Amino acid sequence: MNNPREILILSGKGGTGKTTVASSLAKLINKKVIADTDVDAADMHIMLNPSLIEEHSFKGRSKAFIEQDKCNQCGLCHSKCKFNAIDKLDNKYIVNSFSCEGCTLCYEVCPTNAIVMEEEEAGKWYLSKTDFGLFVHARLNPGAENSGNLVSMVKHQAKQTAIKNNIDTILIDGPPGIGCPVIASLSGANTVILVTEPTVSGVSDLKRIIGVAQNFKPEIAIVINKFDINTDISKQIDDYANNNKIPILAHIPFDKCIVELLMEKRTPIESNDCPEINKEIKSILNYLGEKHDN
Ligand code: SF4
Ligand code: SF4
Repeated sequence: MNNPREILILSGKGGTGKTTVASSLAKLINKKVIADTDVDAADMHIMLNPSLIEEHSFKGRSKAFIEQDKCNQCGLCHSKCKFNAIDKLDNKYIVNSFSCEGCTLCYEVCPTNAIVMEEEEAGKWYLSKTDFGLFVHARLNPGAENSGNLVSMVKHQAKQTAIKNNIDTILIDGPPGIGCPVIASLSGANTVILVTEPTVSGVSDLKRIIGVAQNFKPEIAIVINKFDINTDISKQIDDYANNNKIPILAHIPFDKCIVELLMEKRTPIESNDCPEINKEIKSILNYLGEKHDN
């Protein structure tokens, strides 16, 4: 089969309602693999209640480790390390793994080959099943780096899962911001839906993320969440989108109903309490060419 279509939901910053939109689409689109690439603060699993099928270790950067029985205490590694990652404690040279940058200099200079470079686990990735489809997600260990690589791993695994199961759509909840994890999530994306809010910072974040996303040449569209909290700024976003020929798929109103639903781990489309929000989310579905039941 051809490569599955990747639909990526992004926002220029956290807290814009990105995961609510992504979870709602995850529950509405008929056949898809769902992926959560917000590996630093994954939260889509809360809405999807997954059952684990597979758990895999994700290796991060290599760290130095000193085999004490081979060390002659010469101190060369300690004096050469530019990151002050090797301490002398109780007459032993010890690597502080939090400070070690994995540059391998100590490994190169050690005269007795007492230093080994070992890959540390930076996180885990998971394949789960949900009532709404197969779900690939991950968790980065506290303090671990390499979130961009873990995002790439989640995307790769989601694609393999889709191909293996003959599924032609991957719905991805992306990371917030415009950093390395976002760039990793954009690679290969066909459609990018940007969720924004009508605030001054929301507009500037939106313009920045559009600038980054355009480098990858996907189809780009905008959803304005809580559009009615500031209709002047919403109009500015409308004008900006029109001038740049970017479609606005939905103007989602602010409604307190959503707070209660999210506390019950339900999306607005699972209730009749938020009809205006439902209507707007279903218009996103129409844009994506997906059918819904009502
Ligand atoms: S350079 Fe090698 S032998 Fe020297 S202190 Fe470091 S680990 Fe020990
Ligand atoms: S690998 Fe580099 S950063 Fe880590 S302890 Fe050795 S010299 Fe220092």
